[in-house]
Amino acid sequence: MIEGYSGDETKGSNQDPKEKSITDNTLEQVVFHKITGMDDIEKKMDIDSHSKLIKILTGIEDTQQKDVDFMQRMFEDRRKFFDKYGIEKPENIITEKGDLDAYYNYIIDFAKKKDIQVETMDKAKIPFDTFGFTPDAFFHKGIIYIADVKDSLVRKYFLGSSILHEVIHALQEKSGEKMSPEEEEYEAYMVANLVEEKAFLEMQSPEISSDRTLFAKRLNEIMLDKIIGSSLFVYRNRGTKQEDIPFYK
Ligand SMILES: [Zn+2]
Repeated sequence: MIEGYSGDETKGSNQDPKEKSITDNTLEQVVFHKITGMDDIEKKMDIDSHSKLIKILTGIEDTQQKDVDFMQRMFEDRRKFFDKYGIEKPENIITEKGDLDAYYNYIIDFAKKKDIQVETMDKAKIPFDTFGFTPDAFFHKGIIYIADVKDSLVRKYFLGSSILHEVIHALQEKSGEKMSPEEEEYEAYMVANLVEEKAFLEMQSPEISSDRTLFAKRLNEIMLDKIIGSSLFVYRNRGTKQEDIPFYK
């Protein structure tokens, strides 16, 4: 349930913001370190936990084909999850020259129609200590809190998807469906963040765009790190021991 747009998230780390790119994993790393407190565990478990998580989420085995198969599955699942929750995709709402606030308005409206309370909040008052950084939106006790951002470009490219991510968590809670933290985060990140992360990656690393396997591997890593970071946050809050976390077993 942790998300924010990179580039403005300097409060939680000591890094020079100029050194940060829009897709780097700093936020997830910060969260991860805050949770485990151990850098070496991260390095050792990275590849292993990614493969385990892919198997848990999709049943895809750890073979040479795994990366391409999982990337393809992510896009298929994205479509399924939009249908499951009856939400319009951003690409159907945002038109090339249209209103920049279109999706931001749509998703807030959608939440209200589903009886989900949405509150705007001064970004400075969002408790970044609790999350390790300042999120743009977070879901707490049935309410989605969103940063009071007026900039329409930020609303279009970041805030709309942050709210969408939290709307998925709110709908999951309402549905009462039994899901693990990693399953919940998988749905939320596929719906809200997959397409934008793919676009950022293409922009940032055009040289790998033509290599399907390499591109898949990199995009998968980005998405899996996000799912792991957010899931660990939930597990930690529940007091779950590391050996009881499915993708670390
Ligand atoms: Zn989440």
